[in-house]
Amino acid sequence: MQLKALSDTAPDFTARLAEISGQRRLGAAELQTLQINVGKVCNQACRHCHVDASPMRSESMNAEVAQLCLQALARLPGVDTVDITGGAPELNPNFRMLVRESRALGKLVIDRCNLTILQEPGQEDLAEFLASQQAEIVASLPHFAAARTDQQRGRGVFERSIAALRKLNELGYGDQLRLNLVYNPSGLFLAGQQAQLEREFRERLAADFGIRFHNLYCMNNMPISRFLESLLRANKLEEYMSMLAGAFNPATLDGLMCRRQVSVGYDGQLYDCDFNQMLELPAAIGHIGDLNQADWEARSIVLHNHCFACTAGSGSSCGGALSA
Ligand code: SF4
Ligand code: SF4
Repeated sequence: MQLKALSDTAPDFTARLAEISGQRRLGAAELQTLQINVGKVCNQACRHCHVDASPMRSESMNAEVAQLCLQALARLPGVDTVDITGGAPELNPNFRMLVRESRALGKLVIDRCNLTILQEPGQEDLAEFLASQQAEIVASLPHFAAARTDQQRGRGVFERSIAALRKLNELGYGDQLRLNLVYNPSGLFLAGQQAQLEREFRERLAADFGIRFHNLYCMNNMPISRFLESLLRANKLEEYMSMLAGAFNPATLDGLMCRRQVSVGYDGQLYDCDFNQMLELPAAIGHIGDLNQADWEARSIVLHNHCFACTAGSGSSCGGALSA
């Protein structure tokens, strides 16, 4: 249903790519990041969630697949980063083992954290654990205004997020430990200029709450899952897709995250990115147990019209904008 809606309302992404770059395929650059999506279980149920995560979901990576991820890391020395996401990845029973063992292999570990998880029962020591492992935290904070954040993520989320950020600051996050924030727009517009927004976030969070962070990552909203449903309900999908396609920026192509990462689903299936995972568009390289460098380098990235969200404006990725 999602793919049909995207096909019906936007120009063809591969045709546009061919027009701009002269080729209909995107290939791999060097493999740097293993992104592990440990499942859809989350303590929140945000309006824009591309994973359709919530407390009601039960999909979760088991210990066997987690071990296969670690074995893949051991045989792929070029991978220097393990990026763990969900849902709320910290709720997965194998999360702390994955963090510890990845760190023991010398990898940088990123925890994509929704902040409120730090206050959930049973997670009282989570912030200390992450600090002890020197894990980098990439934390969602849609806006520095309480109402804008609560509108996307639920009532009271802003206040709990600020409390969590204060705790992280006390442990050294925002100083010697990396703490990056993620912004995404609350409506039918592109993420703004990252540098300008970062300045505004820094000033407001420091002045209002004394909070420090390193960088702000600006992401465009992906027209999949809950955000796609809301666009369809409002009869705005065509307008949104047309805006994304009209803002196609060739300067984003080199930095697209699918070119340097592989994304693992909770069941071990491989994808080119987390978005393809949610659209059930698997990569042509099978399962984490079989992942090898040669297959990864030879593959063509699986593209569809949602890719316009990554190439629009300044571009968009798990690491924020792709061009100035
Ligand atoms: S956006 Fe993040 S915090 Fe919100 S429901 Fe989805 S996974 Fe959970
Ligand atoms: S959605 Fe973005 S990251 Fe994923 S395959 Fe398309 S361009 Fe690449």
